[in-house]
Amino acid sequence: MTKRSEYKHRYDSLHKEQNKATTKKWLDAHPGYYAEKAKKQRLETIAHYGGKCIYCGDTNTNHLTIDHIYGGGNQHRKMLHTQNLFPWLKKHNYPEGFQVLCWNHNAEKQYYDTMTPDILEP
Ligand SMILES: [Zn+2]
Repeated sequence: MTKRSEYKHRYDSLHKEQNKATTKKWLDAHPGYYAEKAKKQRLETIAHYGGKCIYCGDTNTNHLTIDHIYGGGNQHRKMLHTQNLFPWLKKHNYPEGFQVLCWNHNAEKQYYDTMTPDILEP
């Protein structure tokens, strides 16, 4: 830990209540900020990966999700300590190995394993 981060850690631990109040005040003044940010990140990510289910072509963004092409999504989320992949994908400049699927085809792939990456590749 650097001297600066040690100082910040100590400062934060001594000012927990003040920090909580400041955060609450900011969140009260900006209702929906994080929900809007998350929605925007989700839509940007889906658009980047093609904007439609690569299997059936569904373009309704309410039906779409990001799939790990070669599996390992649960392990990846555990490693990242989050269920929300969208910020990570953006931060890593939308790496390969992900695709857009509708929820039905994502479930079909996950539970029935009937769709191999070879079938899904355009
Ligand atoms: Zn589909």
